[in-house]
Amino acid sequence: MNVAFPSSGAAGTAGDAPKTGLSVAEAKRRILAQVARPHGEEHVPIEEACGRTLAQPLVAGRTQPPFDVSAMDGYAIRAEDVTGDLAGGEGAVVRLRLIGESAAGHGFDGRLGPMETVRIFTGAPVPEGADTILIQELATREDAWIIPQKVPPRGRYIRPAGQDFAAGDILINAGRRLTPADIGLAAAANYATVPVFERPRIAILATGDELVRPGEALGPSQIVSSNPYAIAALVREAGGLPIDLGIAGDKLEDLARAIEAARQAKAHALVTSGGVSVGDHDLVRKALSDEGMELNFWRIAMRPGRPLIHGRLHDQSGDMAILGLPGNPVAAMVCGLLFLKPLVRALGGEQVVFEEEVSEPAVLASAVAENDGREDFLRAVYRYDGAGLPLVTPFAAQDSALLSVLSHANCLLIRPPHAVPAQVGEPCRIIRIDR
Ligand code: AMP
Ligand code: MG
Repeated sequence: MNVAFPSSGAAGTAGDAPKTGLSVAEAKRRILAQVARPHGEEHVPIEEACGRTLAQPLVAGRTQPPFDVSAMDGYAIRAEDVTGDLAGGEGAVVRLRLIGESAAGHGFDGRLGPMETVRIFTGAPVPEGADTILIQELATREDAWIIPQKVPPRGRYIRPAGQDFAAGDILINAGRRLTPADIGLAAAANYATVPVFERPRIAILATGDELVRPGEALGPSQIVSSNPYAIAALVREAGGLPIDLGIAGDKLEDLARAIEAARQAKAHALVTSGGVSVGDHDLVRKALSDEGMELNFWRIAMRPGRPLIHGRLHDQSGDMAILGLPGNPVAAMVCGLLFLKPLVRALGGEQVVFEEEVSEPAVLASAVAENDGREDFLRAVYRYDGAGLPLVTPFAAQDSALLSVLSHANCLLIRPPHAVPAQVGEPCRIIRIDR
């Protein structure tokens, strides 16, 4: 699975990348290719297991249902007692003798003989000898006698033992992020705890002399640092455990100290924001290289988010993936969605991210211009008009600093490199960001 790194510390675009940078798909592939085997496992109560990634296949230790069970309220009967006579002609009457009751949690202790029936309720074990449920709507009762009004087909309304699953079945494969339905299935299989991978620890560092934390007083030339919070939320959504490393100034010593803090925290990945461009104060790549980062790539042929760094720091304390996100908030988020999310999921042991297609077909609801060599991710809104594919309208304002636009967007409209102008009604692809 692992691919070789290109020569570390390569300046500019790495390896085979064209001048504009790697393609988005290739960058994602190269990031995921370097994810080492997931780390530790732990057992968590099923109450806390939703969203966690299963570390071992979940094997059924019991059979469900454990016995033939009634799916309706009515009468347990032998189909052969009813079929012949009722089918025999108009006015034919069959009387079955009522000999007892089977309720959920309280089965009938005995066996059904010819022309006998047992009152039965949903969830109750089907008594021995019975093979069919006559629903109560189709039965008339006269004292201790039941008169069927219709011939039910044999086996009707019985859920046979093992219909859902049988002991020994693999119910859920390892590497799956557990859904609410999975939790129900695990509980039904009698698991009180399930084995899951430990959450990957993702250290998050903001960089920039201009940044202050939310809630603090702003000095002249300062802005509030928003990226770490959006990124931490994304990390949590992807099943990771964010570790806040705070804000580093635009100084190599500050950055070196923060990288050391990430090592101390035993982070599986370090995500930085800002300082990865080509300005005089963009020192993140140099600081990481000074600390021993093997660079995988810098620069991706995309917009927003071109100057993305990926690499890894490897030392005796372990392997730490490095993702250097751009500082512009929208660029940081788009790169976070495209690269950090799958990275965190893969670090958490999830299997699906490798093949997963994140974009979906849609239709343009407004015309778009031609595109240059970079894959464009336009902030956009999709809506449904009742039928067919979602209709997509990009916002006019696409500056990568506009968090308000990103917040109002519910999708990213993908414009492939060198796309020609496209008109209303033409097909396109989107990535939903509203779920
Ligand atoms: P940089 O990549 O460091 O040149 O940053 C690009 C732009 O993003 C600048 O306008 C920064 O002020 C802004 N920026 C960088 N980091 C953050 C952050 N943590 N929160 C909000 N904006 C940021
Ligand atoms: Mg900066």
